[in-house]
Amino acid sequence: MAENLQLSQIAQQVSRHITLLKMATNTGILNVPKKDGKSDVYLIESGNDDTSGLKLLELIAEMFPQGKLKAVINTHSHADHCGGNAILVEKTGCEIWASKGEASLMEYPSIETQLIWGGTPIHDILSKFLLARPCHVTKIFDGEELIHIPVEAENSEITLQIVSLPGHYVDQTGLLFTDTDGKKIFFAGDALSGRNVIKTYWIQYLLDERQTKESLHKVSQVQADLYIPGHGDSVDSVDGIVELNLLAILETENMILDELKTPKTTEEILKAVADRNLITLRTSQFCLIGSTLRSYLTGLYESGKITYEIQNNSWKWKRNNA
Ligand SMILES: [Zn+2]
Repeated sequence: MAENLQLSQIAQQVSRHITLLKMATNTGILNVPKKDGKSDVYLIESGNDDTSGLKLLELIAEMFPQGKLKAVINTHSHADHCGGNAILVEKTGCEIWASKGEASLMEYPSIETQLIWGGTPIHDILSKFLLARPCHVTKIFDGEELIHIPVEAENSEITLQIVSLPGHYVDQTGLLFTDTDGKKIFFAGDALSGRNVIKTYWIQYLLDERQTKESLHKVSQVQADLYIPGHGDSVDSVDGIVELNLLAILETENMILDELKTPKTTEEILKAVADRNLITLRTSQFCLIGSTLRSYLTGLYESGKITYEIQNNSWKWKRNNA
């Protein structure tokens, strides 16, 4: 996160009490006024690292001088969404809210890099972009629960509906707020990517392809006034962007199937897919896109579209009936 972010350039009030901060990872601020003139502030996501967390504290102080950070609510445990948690807890003693599966990864973030690598990773990939500092999750969502946040000053309440959206990651959740003005604001996490992001990064990281597609369909069923993707531009109508997200997945599937007209190893498919997408694979992309590719191969295998053979100690994927 750039140090010189100006509030006026990134802040957009999206409902009576919710402000969207348009940053590398879209971040929300929910300010809940109390009767004594003070307010409880909730952050949705916390940026990439300590610097991001401290910057968010500065922005909160600037926007809501009477506010105190009560909790960070995370959609999932990727470092670019929860990397600021640890410093925010240290500085303010705030709570951390997340789903059960994501909470376990926030407590043991090294699992993330082990998962991507498929074993203990070389130190080169242990950057802040993949490895957050650990933090303790104080409130674990009870499934798809409805959380009531009283607004004392208005004798009213804001509700937060937890929406399970696994696929991009193990136990990701969407966060659907209904503000006291009736506006429904949906933070979709990385279940949804903005149009501008899809255009730049056609192959998005995913852990489970089938679940990712199911979660995209689920996002399209959510009724909201504003849909905020983890990264990129928000939309007030979701159908077109869901379709674009699905199209990118199907296109990648088709590309892999096309490459498997002849049997190939996973490494050979990775090179072919990267070449065709004009992607220059550096260390971290090798890991992230490699991990994503293996998830696609599992999806294609489990749906019966491809199979594999092991010959001369070499594992090759091939199309079924090819
Ligand atoms: Zn993510």
